[in-house]
Amino acid sequence: MRKTLYLKFLLAYFIFGFFGFIAVATFVSSMTMEHLTREKADALYKEATLIANTYAADLYNNETSLDAVKKQLDALDTYLSATLWIINPSGRMILDSQSPVDVENETVISDFNPTVTGSSYYTVGNFFGGFTEEQLSVFAPITSGYKVRGYVVIHYPMNNLIYSCNSLLNISYLMLIVLFLLSLIILIFFTEMVYLPLRKITEATEQYASGNMHYEFQVESEDEMGYLAASLNYMASEIARSEDDQKKFVANVSHDFRSPLTSIKGYLEAMLDGTIPPEMHEKYLNIVLNETERLTKLTNSLLTLNNLNTRGMMLDKCIFDINRIIRDTAASFEGTCRQKTIAIELILTSDELFVNADVGKIQQVLYNLLDNAIKFSHRDSIIKVETTEKHNKIFVSVKDSGIGIPKDDLKLIWDRFYKSDLSRGKDKKGTGLGLSITKEIISAHGEHINVISTEGVGSEFIFSLPVADDNED
Ligand code: ADP
Repeated sequence: MRKTLYLKFLLAYFIFGFFGFIAVATFVSSMTMEHLTREKADALYKEATLIANTYAADLYNNETSLDAVKKQLDALDTYLSATLWIINPSGRMILDSQSPVDVENETVISDFNPTVTGSSYYTVGNFFGGFTEEQLSVFAPITSGYKVRGYVVIHYPMNNLIYSCNSLLNISYLMLIVLFLLSLIILIFFTEMVYLPLRKITEATEQYASGNMHYEFQVESEDEMGYLAASLNYMASEIARSEDDQKKFVANVSHDFRSPLTSIKGYLEAMLDGTIPPEMHEKYLNIVLNETERLTKLTNSLLTLNNLNTRGMMLDKCIFDINRIIRDTAASFEGTCRQKTIAIELILTSDELFVNADVGKIQQVLYNLLDNAIKFSHRDSIIKVETTEKHNKIFVSVKDSGIGIPKDDLKLIWDRFYKSDLSRGKDKKGTGLGLSITKEIISAHGEHINVISTEGVGSEFIFSLPVADDNED
C-alpha cells in the first residue's frame, strides 16, 4: 500500500508533465501559428493597401514608370522578405519583385480569382500554382475611377512563419520543463509532509497491531499529520496504561485471594493431621472464619467495582435525608465501637438535610469511611461526622484522630488495592478497594471527595452531595 501511494503520486506527476507537453505541442502550437499568421497577414495587408494607393495607383494613372515602381517593390521585397506582385484583374502579371520587367514574355496567373480569400483578406497555399512552397498571400485592389484596375499581391513564405512559430514554441517547451522541475518542489513537500509521516504512522499501527503498545514514534509537524500521530501515540499509551493496570489488577486480586486461602488451607490441614490439638480447634476455626469473611468482603468489593465500571455511571437517584442515613450507618458500628471504646460524635446541620443521590451507594460510602476511621483510630478516641450546607451543596466530613496517612501516600490511597505500610499492622482484613469504590461512587454523582490528613494526628475525609431541589419529586 505504501509503495503505491508514492507511485501514484509520481504517476500523477508524470501524467501532468505528459499532458503539459501534449497541450503545448497541439493547442499552443496551433494557436501560436494562427496568431502569427493573422498578425503577419494584417501587417502585409496594410503594406499592400499602401502600395495599391500610392505607387500602383500612380502606375495605372501613368504618373510614374514601371521601372520606378519596380525599384520600390524590390526594396520592399528585401525589407519584408516577401514577393510583391502587381497583377491585372485577369491574372496578367504587371510587376514581380522577384523577376525583371519583361514586357515580351507575359506571365499570366491562370484561374486567378480575387475572391479566393473569402471573407478574410489573406489566403494560404501555392496561389493558383504560382509557387512550389506554401505562401501567405494578401492582396489589395488598385482602384481608379471607381474601378478595380489591378491588385497588389504580397506573398510571404509560410516556412518563415513556421520557423518563428517554432522559436516561440521552444520558449514554451523550455518554460514547461522549468515548471515541471519547479513542481518537483511539490513532490518534495509531499514526501516530507505526507509520505514520510504516513509511513511512520503505518509502521506504528503495525507495531500496535502486533501488540507492542509501548512503541513510540515522533512526527515533528504541527499540521493534521502531527495531530494524527500525537493522537495515535496518546491512544497507544492509554491502551498500554490500561493493559498495565489490568495486569496489576489481576496480580493484586490473585495475591489477595491467595494469602487467605493459604492460611485457611494451612490451618485446616494442621487440624486434620493433628498438628493443632482438638482443644485449640475453636480458636483456629475462628481464624479460618475471619479469613473467609475477608474473602467474601473482597469478592463483594470486586463485584461492586465491576458493576460500577460496566454499568458506567448508572445511579438510582432519589431524595433522602442524609442525616438519617448517617445516624443509621453510625449505629451499625455500635458493636465495633464499644469493643474499641470509640465514640462517634454526630454534628449534623438541622434535623433533616435532603440530598438528591443514590441512597444505597452513599450508604456504602459512609460505611467505607466510618469503617476506615474506626480501623485506623486508637482506642478511647472520638470520630466526628459532620454535615454542613454551603453553596447549594451538602458537605459530609468523617474525621478521626487515628494514625493518619503519610504525605506521600495521600495520592495513592484512591488506587485499587492500595494499602499504606502504616496501616498494614493495624488492619489485616483490609482489601485496599474501599476508597477506590468510594471515589468512583462520588465521581459518578459528579461530586468530589478530598482528604486532609497528618501522620500520627488523624484524617478527615470530606465529600459533597447535591442539595435536593424543592421542585424535585
Ligand atoms: P482498606 O480496605 O484497606 O481500608 P481503603 O481503600 O479503604 O482500603 O483504604 C486504603 C488505604 O488508605 C488504607 O489501607 C490506609 O492505608 C489508608 N486509609 C484510609 N482511611 C484511613 C484513615 N481514616 N486513617 C488512616 N489511613 C487511612
